[in-house]
Amino acid sequence: MALNSSFLDGMVGVGDMILLESLSEKSVLENLKERFKHDEIYTYIGNVVISVNPYKQLSIYTPEKVEEYRNSNLYQLKPHIYAVADGAYQSLRDRDRDQCILITGESGAGKTEASKLVMSYVAAVCGKGAEVNQVKEQLLQSNPVLEAFGNAKTIRNDNSSRFGKYMDIEFDFKGDPVGGVISNYLLEKSRVVKHVKAERNFHIFYQLLAGGGAELLGQLKLSPDCAKYAYLNKDASSLNGMNDNENFKTVKSAMKIIGFSDSEVTSILQIVAVVLKLGNIEIKGQFQANGMASCYIPDLKEIKEISSLIGLDAATLENAFSVRTVEAKQERVVTTLNASQGAYARDALAKNMYDRLFSWLVQRINESIKVSEFQGKKVMGVLDIYGFEILEENSFEQFIINYCNEKLQQIFIQMTLKEEQGEYRREGIEWTQIEFFDNEIICKLIEDNTKGILAILDEECLLPGNVSDATFLTKLGRQLGNHKHFKSKITQNAKNITDVTLPDNSFRIEHYAGQVTYNTNGFLDKNNDLLFRDLSQAMFKAKHELLKSLFPEGDPKNSSLKRPPTVGFQFKGSVSTLMKNLYAKNPNYIRCLKPNGTKKPSLFDDKLMEIQVRYLGLLENVRVRRAGYAYRQEYGSFLNRYKMLSKQTWPMDGVEVMLNDPEVNISSEEVAYGRTKLFIRTPSTLFDLEEKRRQKM
Ligand code: ADP
Ligand code: MG
Repeated sequence: MALNSSFLDGMVGVGDMILLESLSEKSVLENLKERFKHDEIYTYIGNVVISVNPYKQLSIYTPEKVEEYRNSNLYQLKPHIYAVADGAYQSLRDRDRDQCILITGESGAGKTEASKLVMSYVAAVCGKGAEVNQVKEQLLQSNPVLEAFGNAKTIRNDNSSRFGKYMDIEFDFKGDPVGGVISNYLLEKSRVVKHVKAERNFHIFYQLLAGGGAELLGQLKLSPDCAKYAYLNKDASSLNGMNDNENFKTVKSAMKIIGFSDSEVTSILQIVAVVLKLGNIEIKGQFQANGMASCYIPDLKEIKEISSLIGLDAATLENAFSVRTVEAKQERVVTTLNASQGAYARDALAKNMYDRLFSWLVQRINESIKVSEFQGKKVMGVLDIYGFEILEENSFEQFIINYCNEKLQQIFIQMTLKEEQGEYRREGIEWTQIEFFDNEIICKLIEDNTKGILAILDEECLLPGNVSDATFLTKLGRQLGNHKHFKSKITQNAKNITDVTLPDNSFRIEHYAGQVTYNTNGFLDKNNDLLFRDLSQAMFKAKHELLKSLFPEGDPKNSSLKRPPTVGFQFKGSVSTLMKNLYAKNPNYIRCLKPNGTKKPSLFDDKLMEIQVRYLGLLENVRVRRAGYAYRQEYGSFLNRYKMLSKQTWPMDGVEVMLNDPEVNISSEEVAYGRTKLFIRTPSTLFDLEEKRRQKM
């Protein structure tokens, strides 16, 4: 990397953590704090950029700024997300290297904003022209649509993404965008039917009610009043920081630009309406003459309206909430549902319908932005995915999210080392082994095909008979009790001492980012994610084409199909595909930090920041970067900066001559001469040179 004057001089703190004289969690934090105080929200660790959410508008994203960073050397200007975006884009365009931009951090840290900044920067600097502009527009407009359906207000973030997203932007040989592909990961569908008091359901519901207008709402049989819907937050308007009405217009126009037809938009909104109305179906319990508990729907108004919206016979729908048919060995057994089972079925249908609609939307957007096989395509992938989570109660969702973060950490270490090794090889320098913590052992603990936690969970889910979260936990303890990174109370032959503070229903994993205790309640259910067949079969009977297509397993022709893969199994598969995809690309990292839990500008909560610095493994990050040779710089620029230190730097070959000058006095152990670059082993040597330089000035 090149060091130049604006990079080292006149900086608030250090612009690159590699330059910290004493490296510790404390010095990393202090540096971030000092910079944050001066609105310097970006700091590098080598080519990784750390971003601290300012929670206020800074004037650093103007078109003038874009111009400044365009085609500049990453280190000539202040650290900025644009520098990373520019570095990635240049490398893609000029050196033909596919890129990926990995954005991580906890909820509210600024990941989604960062991903949009990257996208808009690239859109601003790449080619112009009508066709290119249309592609750019379509790619950018996918954001408001996916945010409307996949984001919600939470305690931590007013516009929190409740799904993971990876987007490949594809370019032609000139570096002009030609299209893209979006992948989505695990939408938090439980939000459709339940959220805590201070939060909201997905934006689209409120947007539709606020912006739909009398005619559309009339057609959809909806009222504009949120308070009328059981699934919505009654106080939504007072909680609301955003203009749902305006945003609805933005979403509709975005859909048009992407290429959704009017009838597609209507179909989508009908499903949104149906989900809302499902929540208003009241289900009551009763006892049948034989004493069996069953349930009924006292008021059929919603059932009838839903039926007319989706073209389905009302009795079929009503029936699907009151009975369950199980087919076992050519036998059909029909059982009646009690009130709570009926409500469970209703909510399961609403969640699944919405989740499937969301995935369909992503596929539909892909149809519009996808390019057919294209020669010489170059790709920039942008990953905006949930960061490591340790909540008070950690469940299946946190387990899955944290597994994903283990994999990202693993790829981070592997890619950093791979890149280092590659550069050493190119430069003809001997590779020195770097010591680091390899988290592969934790990844294996979770994903091993036979002995991993996910495999044991699947085995339990697929087993007939008496299985429960408790039997799953027992099995875990029996099979993994000896694992260094696993703990539970119930273990057999365990060498490690069981932890008495661990609750009975929980297990603990020692992740790279810290210990997390997972409560196993609901693991089996969430992993199974089964929708009663009566519900999918009812949906398949609907005349509504889109809705019907969301429930293919309801097709009687498919009834012999095997059960769908479990959530964990699917997730593991998509993570593995993602990793392969990322591994083939040149990585660029943006690590986002949240300075406080109250969304306030200028407030730096030391404790909260410390925890994140640990979760993100920033210290390890600096260490890996500093291991081997901390610095490298092309001979020419190195000489330019330091030639003043010695009279003997001219003519060329000057670097070696200069460094051997007794006045400069750098130990030969400290440097290595590569083909094009000089490598310096420890940061203090560089500080030394800098200090000498300052004295001479
Ligand atoms: P995440 O995706 O990590 O959950 P977001 O990107 O949605 O977080 O950011 C949360 C909020 O923080 C945004 O809605 C915005 O108000 C603020 N924010 C994030 N990044 C910036 C930034 N670079 N400048 C100003 N405000 C920001
Ligand atoms: Mg987000």
